[in-house]
Amino acid sequence: MQLARIKATAGVDFAVRGKNDEPWTCLTDLGMDVSRTAEAISRWSDIDEAYTRSVGAGVTDPELLCPVVSPSKIVAIGLNYMDHIRETNSPVPEQPVVFAKYPSSLNSPRGPILVDPHLTEQVDYEVELAVVIGTEARRLTRDNALDCVFGYAIANDVSARDLQRRDSQLSRSKGFDTFCPIGPWITVADSAGSPQDLRISSWVNGETRQDSSTDQMLFTVADLLVHLSASMTLEAGDVILTGTPPGVGVGHEPPMFLKDGDVVRCEIAGLGELRNTIRTDPGARLPETVLRQSI
Ligand code: MG
Repeated sequence: MQLARIKATAGVDFAVRGKNDEPWTCLTDLGMDVSRTAEAISRWSDIDEAYTRSVGAGVTDPELLCPVVSPSKIVAIGLNYMDHIRETNSPVPEQPVVFAKYPSSLNSPRGPILVDPHLTEQVDYEVELAVVIGTEARRLTRDNALDCVFGYAIANDVSARDLQRRDSQLSRSKGFDTFCPIGPWITVADSAGSPQDLRISSWVNGETRQDSSTDQMLFTVADLLVHLSASMTLEAGDVILTGTPPGVGVGHEPPMFLKDGDVVRCEIAGLGELRNTIRTDPGARLPETVLRQSI
């Protein structure tokens, strides 16, 4: 089954369907008023049952919105594909490299990625497998780690490389508004197959940039869940981005950064696709910078 958030005639709603090409059934039509992803997940058995009993036409080809609403956190992993580690000339990490993306960076599967040219000239794409947590979890073991997963989706960990270098950490460079498209929907875990055997690819204006498999991950999804839950409680609706394969713009010689009008398509086999266009932020202006030499 799949969980989406759509723009229906009656307004924005979560919606479910059995598989690709079937119409979506809105949760309000199942008698459920749900506004956050965690809420949909916690009521999933009721939703599943109501959907099985439902009759009606459903919605075909609606506008899809980001299926992740108000997560308590988005945890991201850097340098998790061996070939990507080589293309960035980075040492092989002994433990997962963990950082955060902010919920305010979430974007729709077809939403524009807004770039302020006063702030960055090196915007880059990173297709990633996104893991959506289904149940609260702490101190998971390898044997039970995947039990806490609700489902999987595609994410684009959009990154401003010049700020990434300048800031010496990742919060700002990967935290711009619109820099985290996720979707196009969440595929529940038992419909997605093994998370370590999925083809993962990206294109810019139709040209292949990344083409790999999740079997190339240095740390598997289960490894990451064990590692993260050792120090933090994973909550329903939280998202983990599991790293990107080789082929990012900064790995090319010369580098190939995104420009206004470029269309980035990210695909993971069986999970659908994201298709986002780069647009100059209409509010872009020279920032009032705050620089302090000393305090
Ligand atoms: Mg990344």
